[in-house]
Amino acid sequence: SQVLITGGTGFIGRNLIPLLQAKGYKVTVLTRSADKYKAYPVLKEVRLVESLQDVNDIDVVVNLAGANLAAKRWSDSYKETIVNSRLNTTENLLEWIKQQEHKPHTLINGSAIGFYGARGNEELDESSTSGNGSEFQVRLCTRWEDAAYRAENLGLRVCCIRTGVVLGHEGALQQMLPPFKFGLGGKLGSGNQYFSWIHISDHVRAVMYLIKHSELQGAFNLTAPEPVTNYGLTKTLGKVLGRPTFATVPEFALKLLVGELAKMLLTGQRVYPKKLMESGFTFEYPTLNEALQDLLN
Ligand code: NDP
Repeated sequence: SQVLITGGTGFIGRNLIPLLQAKGYKVTVLTRSADKYKAYPVLKEVRLVESLQDVNDIDVVVNLAGANLAAKRWSDSYKETIVNSRLNTTENLLEWIKQQEHKPHTLINGSAIGFYGARGNEELDESSTSGNGSEFQVRLCTRWEDAAYRAENLGLRVCCIRTGVVLGHEGALQQMLPPFKFGLGGKLGSGNQYFSWIHISDHVRAVMYLIKHSELQGAFNLTAPEPVTNYGLTKTLGKVLGRPTFATVPEFALKLLVGELAKMLLTGQRVYPKKLMESGFTFEYPTLNEALQDLLN
């Protein structure tokens, strides 16, 4: 079978590719710049294309492309880039699917737990409603998912993966580490807000599981079964690194540093992967302690 990944050059995509190949899938990656990525070892093993016109005979599409949420402050113009990069890619995919004689049967589409918005300590699963539409990440995720589900009208099975903070050898964890290594790590604000995370290896295993299980469709939370509070995260990180964690990062400092993104870090979300668990998926790293031991030691 053939898989097309958009955003396959990114953190999640590059971890997904070897797993797909090990299961016998041929992988094509749609990128804005094939040249830029030719030297990456993982990407040498795939077909890199810059235009959908060069792609056909695809069975499964994994749609991950979009401007990075943590790369810049959320100015109005960057917010537009964040939204448009995702919606335009998805629209282009839909147009391309329409034209295909051999249509893909499955679309696995990116999304995030930002779908639920800021909900305090409320326990959230896939049956929970979306958050307040005045929040940017709620609008982003609902619009992205709505666009993806339009592929159902073209006969595809669609799964939207509401992804938590992915912990791996790059991404959010690496951005959190420096203060901890210097013994300056600490909780953010009150520390009571929930942190819903997933180990990168479980994330790509879950994507594989959704590809393989043709009876599964709709939204899936890709988060570990044990979300932790920010205080719990701080303590576990300190313990695994063998560093003290007495500091507290005050809210105002965080807001100055990362602006609107701070709201997400301070309010948190307590998300459970109910549908994955019910479907029989098992996590290799169900607890934060196990995940951090693996990634940091
Ligand atoms: P990355 O930022 O590592 O990679 C995303 C890819 O999208 C890039 O490799 C790039 O591919 C493409 N891209 C970047 N900017 C644009 C743009 N302006 N227009 C079109 N394409 C663009 O993301 P991740 O792998 O970490 O995540 C994949 C998806 O999952 C993202 O949509 C992200 O929002 C979502 N997600 C990730 C989480 C995480 O913790 N990592 C958490 C929740 C959701 P190229 O340069 O080849 O064109």
